[in-house]
This record gives sequence, structure tokens and C-alpha cells, in this order.
Amino acid sequence: MLIGSPRERLEGEARVAMTPDSATQLQKLGYQCVIEAGAGKLAGFSDDLYRAAGVTVVDTVDALYAQADVIAKVRPPLADEVSKLAPGKTLISFFYPAQNKDLLEQAKGTGANVIAMDMVPRISRAQKMDALSSMANIAGYRAVIEAGNNFGRFFTGQVTAAGKIPPAKVLVIGAGVAGLAAVGTSVSLGAITYAFDVRPEVAEQIESMGANFVFLDFAGPAQDGAATGGYAAPSSPEFREAQLKKFREIAPDIDIVISTALIPGRDAPKLWLADMVAMMKPGSVIVDLAAERGGNCDLTVPDQKIVTDNGVTIVGYTDFPSRMAAQSSTLYSTNIRHMMTDLTPKKDGALFHNMEDDVIRGATVTYQGEITFPPPPPKIQ
Ligand code: NAD
Repeated sequence: MLIGSPRERLEGEARVAMTPDSATQLQKLGYQCVIEAGAGKLAGFSDDLYRAAGVTVVDTVDALYAQADVIAKVRPPLADEVSKLAPGKTLISFFYPAQNKDLLEQAKGTGANVIAMDMVPRISRAQKMDALSSMANIAGYRAVIEAGNNFGRFFTGQVTAAGKIPPAKVLVIGAGVAGLAAVGTSVSLGAITYAFDVRPEVAEQIESMGANFVFLDFAGPAQDGAATGGYAAPSSPEFREAQLKKFREIAPDIDIVISTALIPGRDAPKLWLADMVAMMKPGSVIVDLAAERGGNCDLTVPDQKIVTDNGVTIVGYTDFPSRMAAQSSTLYSTNIRHMMTDLTPKKDGALFHNMEDDVIRGATVTYQGEITFPPPPPKIQ
């Protein structure tokens, strides 16, 4: 069978779902690989590098979709791309089926099978395919680099002949995958790093990384309803008040805020409010990784960088993984390759779409002309 990756159509998207290295691995599974000309260019992979890895380069997206049995891409397909699918073809990409109902209907109508990388169940066995985590890790790292790029001072403190320089103080809000990557990066650059999460179990992890967990003096229930599967639920009103009070206390002293707080299936909680921004020193920076879901800061403008009247820069970019396209393509294509390994148990270049497999079932959103989203809960936790 043939597996192919097109050039990403979304304006500004630099990632690619197949790299020369991942193509080599896919060929070991028995697949032939094909790529649209220029697909890897923005991520640093030339057509010649693909050819050297045994990949066929085709000139047009139509030729790619016509030839490939399996199409691997990064971003959810555009309607035009979905229209090129057909029964017997499999599309593997981010899809966000809950937010893309029309696209899901359209995909169903083509009779193709669609595997959504964002729906891979977050169970231990599937970690190697967890593209959400590999992209969040990059976003967390890059958020700190972006903050540094917009911050006019050092992260680390220095004593120089020209004077003593205090270390920067960084607050990371939300310590999931992206937040912990931000904590690690900030600590390694020498900033005094604080982190906060509604899930108290992360305190130990944060402290083991050399950062300080921001504790709240709060005795009541932290969350409205039970959190599921290690994820956060919305905070109770009392907890939220305590959290905002704490943030107001520390806002004047914090130089950089990296906010990553998300609750599955909801808009991002507003946690860094306009009055906190107003309390920050001129030159301070906020990087809001929750911008795509509305932002944790109520002044964030998605996809833009703004500077407030009091001189605080707020970065609302939503494309951090694409800004490190070589790294993110390498990790994402590896996630795809692991998915293909599970889809090819006999390593014979023939895809076996096993709907009895929890991971494959969980990620499949259309199958043989039916919508298969949402999936049943996985049997293995
Ligand atoms: P996420 O991106 O959904 O959320 C980011 C963080 O925001 C979470 O840590 C969440 O607790 C936090 N948050 C929510 N509301 C908040 C608030 N009001 N204030 C402060 N923080 C708030 O989460 P994620 O990065 O995808 O990961 C969430 C959990 O899932 C973590 O425990 C992670 O370790 C776990 N996980 C497990 C696997 C696995 O395969 N076992 C894989 C990935 C993630």
C-alpha cells in the first residue's frame, strides 16, 4: 500500500506529517511512501532528502490523494481535501471532531476511514502516539523562548562589574504537559520559577524540577464536580476567588506569565485578569498558550502580540509547534509512524483497521461510511 503526505494547506503551517526518517521506518513496515513536492520545505526537509530516503515526489495534491491509500497530514483537512477522499482510503491527521461536526459529516459521506490523532486515548500503551503531548511539549518550550525574545532582560541573575542583575520571576499557570515543559525551560534558563495548577498532585513534580509550587490557603472543594482521568474540571467559585486573590498578590512581582490552563471540552478559564496585567511592571511579558481556546488572560488577542498601555507584552500566538517545524515534524511523524505500526501488525504493508483495538477504535472518527465519534470509553485505563 501507499502512504502519502501532502503540503499543509493552512496559511502559515510549516509542519509536515512525514519526514525522510519516518518514511524510512514506514518502508520497513512494507509501505511505499509518496509526498507532494515541497511538503517538507518549510520544516527543512527538501524533496531531494525525501528522494534519497526512497520516497516518490509527486507534483500535485490531486496526484497524491489519487495514489495514496493512506494520507497522513498535520492539520484537520480542508473541505477541498476531504472531497478527495474515497472508500478504501484512510486519513490520519488532527481532526478535533467535536469542533468540526460539518467536516466529520463530509468525511463520513466519502466512505473513507478517518483517524484523529487528537483522539488517541491517553493510556500508557498509546503514549508513543500521543501527538497532543508531543506538540504541547514543544509549545511549552517555545512559549518560554518567545517570552525571552520579548523580555528586555536576562532570565538568570548576574553579578557583573556594571552592576547586580536580579533573576527574572516566571509564573507558569497550569502544569500539564505544556506547563511542565515551560517550567523545565524556565528553570534551565535560570529564572526563579513559580507554577500553579488546580491539581495538587503536580506540586511534587514542580518542586523536583527546581521550581516553586504556588500553594493556596484553601480548605474547600477545589473543583466543581469530579475531575476525570487526571484532567481538571472547572474550579468551584470559592477556589477560583482564592486563586485570583493569590494571583493579585503576586502580579506586581512577576516578570513573565506563561499560561497553559485548560479544561477539556470548555473555553479556557480566565485566570489572569486585566487588573492583574495593570499591576505588572512595564516590560513584563505574558505568553498565553490557551489563546486558541479564548485565552487565560482576558486581554489576549488570538494570533497577535499586543502591548498594553502600561507596557506589558501579551503574546497570543496559536502556532507555537509550527514555529519549531523541524522538531515538531520529527516528533509528529514519529507519532504517526507508531500509529501505522499498530495498524500494520504483520508488517506487510497492508493496513489492518482493527476496531477491537482500544487505541485504534478511540481515535477512529469515521469508519466505512459511519461516524464513530465519540468512542466508547476505553477498556484499559
Ligand atoms: P490540558 O492541556 O488539558 O490542561 C493544562 C493544565 O491546566 C492541566 O494540568 C490542568 O490541571 C490545568 N488547569 C485547568 N484549570 C486550571 C486552573 N483554573 N488553574 C490552573 N491550572 C488549571 O492538560 P494536559 O497537558 O493535556 O494534561 C493533563 C493531564 O493528563 C496531566 O495529568 C498529564 O500528565 C496527563 N496526561 C497523561 C498522559 C498519559 O498517556 N498517561 C498523556 C498526556 C497527559
